[in-house]
Amino acid sequence: MTANLLDYDLEGLAAFCERLGEKRFRSTQLFRWIHQKGAIAFDDMSDLAKSLREKLKTTADIVALPVISQTISSDGTIKWLFDVGAGNAIETVFIPEDDRGTLCISSQAGCAVACRFCSTGHQGFSRNLTTAEIIAQLWYAEHFLRKHLSRTERVISNVVMMGMGEPLQNYSSLVPALRVMLDDNAYGLSRRRVTVSTSGVVPMIDRLAQDCPVALAVSLHASNDALRNDLVPLNRKYPLAELLQACTRYLVAAPRDFITFEYCMLDGVNDSLQHAQEVVKLVRSQHAGSWCKFNLIPFNPFPLSGLTRSPPEAVSAFCKVLSDAGIVTTIRKTRGDDIDAACGQLAGDVRDRTDVQRRMIIRRSTEITNQVNSNTATAVREDAFND
Ligand code: SAH
Ligand code: SF4
Repeated sequence: MTANLLDYDLEGLAAFCERLGEKRFRSTQLFRWIHQKGAIAFDDMSDLAKSLREKLKTTADIVALPVISQTISSDGTIKWLFDVGAGNAIETVFIPEDDRGTLCISSQAGCAVACRFCSTGHQGFSRNLTTAEIIAQLWYAEHFLRKHLSRTERVISNVVMMGMGEPLQNYSSLVPALRVMLDDNAYGLSRRRVTVSTSGVVPMIDRLAQDCPVALAVSLHASNDALRNDLVPLNRKYPLAELLQACTRYLVAAPRDFITFEYCMLDGVNDSLQHAQEVVKLVRSQHAGSWCKFNLIPFNPFPLSGLTRSPPEAVSAFCKVLSDAGIVTTIRKTRGDDIDAACGQLAGDVRDRTDVQRRMIIRRSTEITNQVNSNTATAVREDAFND
């Protein structure tokens, strides 16, 4: 069986090269060809010795994910649906903005946490993605965009692990993938611009601080344990006080001096002024006022959720209570919702291929190029991921 080289961080690739009887430094050249140049064919890697290229041809592969569809939103957001086999698909979203390009990456096919307001959660859990499948999303998007925008320099400046799945429940694949994102010989992203979003897997927050500290976002969504138990079932295992204490510990290693709390605004469920006041109390009780930022996310509806989006006035009023209490709070501007690419709308379901075909408007790449170019001028979004 051949090894998929997208599965390795630089250390892993060095070990692989050693197993082939090659010097470790060869792995850096190989790593650059794969991630910086987007090469697939070993014969293209002109500065590698011919003997090494021959060995690689029989022992290794660079296997990308098949693209099922590519859809572009009127706001320039692009969504890709990738086939990960056995009827499973995952989604990846590129969000262009004036001063940066953000890629939202999936970590699992489905999700076991089963949050009430999340389309991925309703779909159930299929399986963890491998490191190669996580990194293949960035590899494909970066090199596709460079080619179509005729750019030689990096297009993607930020990565958020906010696609399908709970990244901290796929820890062993996640960490090598993060290392590839950060490595100067690969994508060279700043730790501050790679964000792991979690529903609150407390022990893994502590491990991430040790193994690969990047920016952290925590999906809070509730002001008390009873409500959070209902919305984010994982709260029964790791209740709010424990979660907030884990955040405090994380700050010691974190590349930023704050942690973002995401709060999905659900009409009549968690969006009243009383809830806002309870959030303020919770934050104060954990002395979190100086290190947390709230990002209020308008709920993106999907069939079967039985939930609706809070009206804008309720979101503004909620925001004001938090801001007046000195908590930095922003309201997330929803992007790509006309193509079901907004937060929580990713389902990646390919069981009904006819429906996928109907939903996905596949455009010719020239059209995409034009649209991406014109949309890189869209207004900068005011949210917690501003650098
Ligand atoms: N599992 C991780 C990361 C993926 S979800 C987590 O839960 O943090 C990414 C973000 O989208 C989370 O903050 C999640 O709460 C939010 N989200 C999920 N469903 C949503 C929906 N229908 N509308 C708006 N945001 C949603
Ligand atoms: Fe999983 Fe995150 Fe969706 Fe909850 S919000 S079901 S943790 S992907």
